[in-house]
Parts: sequence; structure tokens; C-alpha cells
Amino acid sequence: RIAYVNGVYVPLRDASVHVEDRGFQFADSVYEVCEVRDGALVDETRHMGRLKRSLSELSIRMPMAENALKVVLRETLRRNRVVNGMVYFQVSRGAAKRDFLFPSPDTPPTLVVIARSLDRAKGDAGAASGIAVITLPDNRWERVDIKSTGLLPNVLAKQKARQQGAKEVWFFDEQGYVTEGGSSNAWIVTAENTLLTRPAESGILRGITRTTLMDLARRDNMVVTERAFTVAEAKAAKEAFVTSATNVVMPVVKIDDTVIGDGTPGALARKLRAHFHSVAEHSV
Ligand code: PMP
Repeated sequence: RIAYVNGVYVPLRDASVHVEDRGFQFADSVYEVCEVRDGALVDETRHMGRLKRSLSELSIRMPMAENALKVVLRETLRRNRVVNGMVYFQVSRGAAKRDFLFPSPDTPPTLVVIARSLDRAKGDAGAASGIAVITLPDNRWERVDIKSTGLLPNVLAKQKARQQGAKEVWFFDEQGYVTEGGSSNAWIVTAENTLLTRPAESGILRGITRTTLMDLARRDNMVVTERAFTVAEAKAAKEAFVTSATNVVMPVVKIDDTVIGDGTPGALARKLRAHFHSVAEHSV
């Protein structure tokens, strides 16, 4: 496998950044994950838009022009022969003598791109059974709208989920409302078949899959309401699922010790998963 690091393509085993890279020392960096399907990047425009927003919120400059970055993504995919899988790209504020304060503005940002093939049949098989999630208090910072690599709370929470036989964690805020998953957005379906997901104004990352799924649901005349729901409401829901670039729509069949519906993936979740790529952007 090949990685792109600051202007060069190198074998992954030799791919490294400086020990004083600010991404390494301060998690002073942001990232994106884009699904690759049949050779096309899924929702690349929206992922680029969010990358630029994350960078701008942190006053980190784009490592190169957007069009050049798009070429690097494609070249990394090509060199790794990825047709179905994902591309990960990360930008840090660059390498500089360790200091909390921003380095001089001429410090070049670090850009790393990694690509990986993913077995679609395996993903579909996982979605056919659905996943269990556990709930935990959200102990993250207020700026989770920025897709930063500062993911230690997510790492610890997802590890705890794994120890309890679950694939994902759902964080909840001080009022008991679900915020989002450790690496996904959270959704439920009410008894009236209304899709509920938390407004992106607070407490969550504005997931690209979440946004595109809202396009799909509205196209198909489903009712989507952006409102927060509690853990108790989720446990009593008709269906539950999560969205993310790599898992698309993943049904949730158990929350803590509560089985959702009949314990199998819900009809709406299955339908949304099946139709997602008919509305998402595909760029070659
Ligand atoms: N929330 C968090 C905390 C995430 O890490 C992710 C995935 N990176 C998402 C939501 C889903 O976002 P997307 O649909 O853009 O992958």
C-alpha cells in the first residue's frame, strides 16, 4: 500500500510525519473520510466543503488548491488499486518547535492521504444483521462540529462498546438527549414513520451521509424532522440506525440491553441503505 505524505507517494510502512508535527503533538489537525464506490468518490464536493470549513474554523490553510487535492486523492486511489473502499485525508497545522501558539504563517500544513479497499459484501452482510450500541455520557468538547483528529473520548467510548459486545456508542448530553455516535450520526424512526435526527446546530458533526440521507428521504416523500431525541425515546423507537461515510446506513438492533423493534433491521433503514447511492454524488 502507498500513502501520500507532503508531496511524495511512499510505501505505507515508510510513511511518516515529523515528531514535532502539530497533528501528533496537539491533535492540531482535521480529516475527512470519503467512500469510494465503483471507482467514484461519493459526495466529494460535500466532503471538500466540510474540510475547508474545519480548516477555516481553526485558521489552518488548505495544504494545496482544492483541484490539486482532488488529483492527489485520485492518484492515491489509483496507486492502491482501490475501486471500492475509502480514502482518508488529514491536514495538520504542520511541523514546528513545540509551542502551544500557532507557528509562523509560512509553516506549510501537513497533508497525508491513505486509501484502503473495503469488502462491500462484508458491509452488506453486517447491515443485514444490524449492530448493537451502548450509551455513554458525552464528555467531548463543544466544537465537535469541527472534524478534528482529537478523538480520544471517541476512542475510549468505542473501546468500551467493543468490550460490551457492541459496535458503536451513542453519546448523550446532560439533558439525556442523544448527540451522535462515536464515529457516526444517530437516527430513529417513530411509530408514525417519522425520521428523527438531532439538529446539527449543537452537539454533533454535520455528517455528510446525514445530509445526503435527508435529501433522499425528502425525495421519497418521507417525513424527516431535525430534533433531539432522548435515550429513552430511542429505546422505544420503531427503528434505529447510524450513518457514516464508510457504513452508509447501518441498522441498530439493540441499545444497551433493549432490543429495537423485533431485533432485526427496520424496513425504512433497509430501504434508505438500498437507495442511498441513487442520490449521492459520484465523481470520477
Ligand atoms: N459523527 C462523528 C463523530 C464522526 O466521526 C463521523 C464520521 N467521521 C460522523 C458523525 C459521520 O460523518 P460522515 O457521514 O460525514 O462520515
